[in-house]
Amino acid sequence: MSRRNFLAGAPALGFVPATKKLKVVVAGGHPGDPEYGCGGTIAKYSGLGHDVTLLYLNRGEKGCPGKTPKACGSTRVAEAQRACEILKAQARFADETDGQAVVDQAHYEAFRRILESEKPDVVFTQWPIDNHRDHRATSTLIYDAWLRMNKRSALYYYEVSDGEDTLMFHPTDYVDITQTEPRKRTACYAHASQSPDRFYSLQSQVAHFRGIESGHAQAEAFIRQTASPGNFLP
Ligand SMILES: [Zn+2]
Repeated sequence: MSRRNFLAGAPALGFVPATKKLKVVVAGGHPGDPEYGCGGTIAKYSGLGHDVTLLYLNRGEKGCPGKTPKACGSTRVAEAQRACEILKAQARFADETDGQAVVDQAHYEAFRRILESEKPDVVFTQWPIDNHRDHRATSTLIYDAWLRMNKRSALYYYEVSDGEDTLMFHPTDYVDITQTEPRKRTACYAHASQSPDRFYSLQSQVAHFRGIESGHAQAEAFIRQTASPGNFLP
């Protein structure tokens, strides 16, 4: 069965079928964004044998006070690679510059080529209403690539550092991460340069609240894009 047929035949409210190995791409502005927003869900996908790529818009090279951008970028790439090892995922970088995301014709095309080369069945990106411009840019670039790829993959938005970054997020779907939260936590703490005590504490409060909403101890919440084919959450 081709992927197109598979997606066309997918139930509106289904589950990840055991027989199909999915390619999952989780995009984020900086190293750490996909892990904080979706780490429990990523661990579930990889635990089920699916391929997951974490696609970072930049290397977070402005995020280490007192370090040069080059040194900071190296530190954060190493942290991202360690986080991906913990989540059994691959790291990929889109080579934009931290804090200076460019969204124009050339960058739309470059980003689409990257996403297309991953041949994704499921794509996650940051919610576009966010206080950080790199997060907003990531969302815009993914949405445009998804349209140009004829809406072939399932598309979901995730939340990160609510109130500080993500705003006005009203979930449509939830994933129970009670079992995978310890791996998510370890992956987030791999970003040791990024004050994990502070930011994981906030994300953990969100996971408990999303758990209350959805009837689990802890959950990650998503907004499913309208016209996204099927439901491919684990
Ligand atoms: Zn970020």
